[in-house]
Amino acid sequence: MQDDTYWNKSAETLTREGIEELQTRLLKSSLGRASRSKFYAERFKTIGLDPELVSSLEDFHRIPFTVKKDLRQSYPYGLLCEPKDRILRMHSSSGTTGQAIAVFYTKADLELWADLLARCMYMAGARPSDTFQNLSGYGLFTGGLGFQYGAERLGMLTIPSGAGNSRRQIQIMRDFSTSVIHIIPSFLLLLMDVLKEMQVDPQKELSLKIAFVGAEPYSQEVRKRLESFYGIKVYNSFGLSEMNGPGVAFECPHQNGMHIWEDAYIVEIIDPETLQTVPDGQYGELVMTTLQREAMPVLRYRTGDLTRILPGECGCGRVHKRIDRIQGRTDDMFIIKGVNIFPMQVEQVLMNIPEVGNNYVILLTKEHDIDNMVVRVEMTDSVFVEDMRVLERVRKRITHDLKNELLVTPRVELVEPNSLPRSEGKATRLIDQRMI
Ligand code: AMP
Ligand code: ZN
Repeated sequence: MQDDTYWNKSAETLTREGIEELQTRLLKSSLGRASRSKFYAERFKTIGLDPELVSSLEDFHRIPFTVKKDLRQSYPYGLLCEPKDRILRMHSSSGTTGQAIAVFYTKADLELWADLLARCMYMAGARPSDTFQNLSGYGLFTGGLGFQYGAERLGMLTIPSGAGNSRRQIQIMRDFSTSVIHIIPSFLLLLMDVLKEMQVDPQKELSLKIAFVGAEPYSQEVRKRLESFYGIKVYNSFGLSEMNGPGVAFECPHQNGMHIWEDAYIVEIIDPETLQTVPDGQYGELVMTTLQREAMPVLRYRTGDLTRILPGECGCGRVHKRIDRIQGRTDDMFIIKGVNIFPMQVEQVLMNIPEVGNNYVILLTKEHDIDNMVVRVEMTDSVFVEDMRVLERVRKRITHDLKNELLVTPRVELVEPNSLPRSEGKATRLIDQRMI
């Protein structure tokens, strides 16, 4: 392997034994730091754990899981481990509902975060000669400043174009020959329509090579659509505010799962019902621990994200474990007529049908005490002008394919292109009106 394969060679070429030895060492100091927070001090006292005496990764499994509720209840400073004069930055995430959580960073935390992101982007092929446009919300959301610092660390000309302003984004891409972008999937899908409206051919008139796409779930089918429309490589980018933000796990050029940087995080997959660890290859809930964070270590955090560790070695040579594409969140799952369904299953079916456009919404309602599932689907331009018979054929096909996948029959409604509401941030794909 050539040397310019790595951003941080010593970390990326660790062996399995090297990783475990490093994790054990880092864990000890991380637990020590954590005990300076009000939250973990109380927790360690309750379970009688002396961080000084933790000597192996097995001892670590005695620590109870941390859940989102703990972070909410500890808002704003309950998990802070450092005096405020050592803190440089705060981000906050409120998710879709509920009380916000706050995440703090020391100088070293910001450095590490930028380094991890530079490592991710370099691994996927970004180089200092690239021009990077970050079409991500800046502000409390970690995707803006996180990628900004990472891209600058890598040495790219970095354009903080932010979320929204679709036409302007395309103009900037043209004017500055943007070659690498970071964007959420729903926005990159939306830009497909905007490019068509503007009559810009992305493959001929833009210089895009690589897109880092993440922050919300999307299917392999969406990735394929994006890659073929834009003529680029789309790399999956995963992170969450509780673990810094983006830069936690990222695809390498093999695009077969996302490597989690195990020198910075311990990764576990558990069965969300029994809370027991599941073997590699089996799906479960992702649980993560920070190893190097100073301001706010978080231990055994239940992310709510459903994935699995991909067994086997990656062709790129990095032994850092790979997680599979996120299938959904434990709190995304809905039950209809007794069947458990994830929105991602619906997306996989829809995006395989060529007449289907790039936007859809799942609506759950109750009529006379009976649950109803409506799937509203935007069509492509070319289909919508066709006659009713064509539309009816497409509607039947979607209903049939969804029934096959979900085992319930939803009501499928076809709507015009660009008629469903769009948000500039993460997309809302599921509206559950059954409780209202
Ligand atoms: P935030 O609170 O804004 O930091 O959002 C973090 C959450 O976004 C994660 O816990 C995941 O549910 C979701 N997420 C982030 N990246 C991805 C990705 N690549 N694929 C699927 N979901 C993602
Ligand atoms: Zn790899």
